[in-house]
Amino acid sequence: MSALLQVRGLRKAFGGVQAVQDVDFDLAAGELLAMIGPNGAGKSTCFNMINGQLVPDAGSVVLAGREIAGRPPREIWRLGVGRTFQVAATYASMTVAENVQMALLSHHGKLFRIWPRAASLHRDEALELLAAVGLRDRADEPCSTLAYGDIKTVELAIALANQPTLLLMDEPTAGMAPQERNALMQLTRRLVKERGIGVLFTEHSMDVVFAHADRIMVLARGALIAQGTPEAIRDDAQVREVYFGSGRLVRAARAGERSGDRAGGQAGRSAAGGPAAGGP
Ligand code: ADP
Ligand code: MG
Repeated sequence: MSALLQVRGLRKAFGGVQAVQDVDFDLAAGELLAMIGPNGAGKSTCFNMINGQLVPDAGSVVLAGREIAGRPPREIWRLGVGRTFQVAATYASMTVAENVQMALLSHHGKLFRIWPRAASLHRDEALELLAAVGLRDRADEPCSTLAYGDIKTVELAIALANQPTLLLMDEPTAGMAPQERNALMQLTRRLVKERGIGVLFTEHSMDVVFAHADRIMVLARGALIAQGTPEAIRDDAQVREVYFGSGRLVRAARAGERSGDRAGGQAGRSAAGGPAAGGP
């Protein structure tokens, strides 16, 4: 069986800086793969080459057997690569349901300018998605009345509206309280497993990474220095040395181990570790 996403020899330089060098990895359908590394390691550059925001200098990005490297973002999105944004990107004055309906309209190839007449379009589908993320009862409230954690959840519903096969999440839980982070990642994990969506995510919180990732890649100065299960990454001497001198990774990994079921309840895990490993 071939992987959903196959990345080979991916490279990008900015001036003299080799931001990403020869990055190779595979991602399977239904898998949650975390990409971690210090600030400036090249994580965003990798993401942006996969979503089409940046054209790679070299390398290949194959999604479901099709080369997508260098194609424009809109086309890559159409081919099934969804993304969530680090900064909330909902329309505050529209209701929760309308925000999801907008995304559905877009997915179904309709134009935003028909919106005033289209307010009833895809409403049932939007409500279904909101039910899936646990926000059905907030459907008719303006997004502006929602707490930040709920807005991030609406964004997950918006991303799912496009029926992605691959979901790129750049710090999906940035700015959220530890409890909320684990709840959002648990929800993400459940939904993508149900739908067979592959997820590539970055995350500063090692607690979140070790609790929810199936596999972890470690990037340092543009190069992958390790990839493997959370257990293998925790035990990797080079990772500890190069990236996590502080030992915080080890504590987070142990906390993840204690929690036992990676997919299961994570309530109360916030006590196990500090805030961000690298800071925003
Ligand atoms: P991360 O997301 O892991 O923090 P980035 O991918 O943002 O890392 O950055 C990797 C390296 O590339 C850094 O040295 C950064 O300064 C550089 N870089 C990223 N984007 C640009 C850009 N548009 N122009 C110039 N340099 C950039
Ligand atoms: Mg970044």
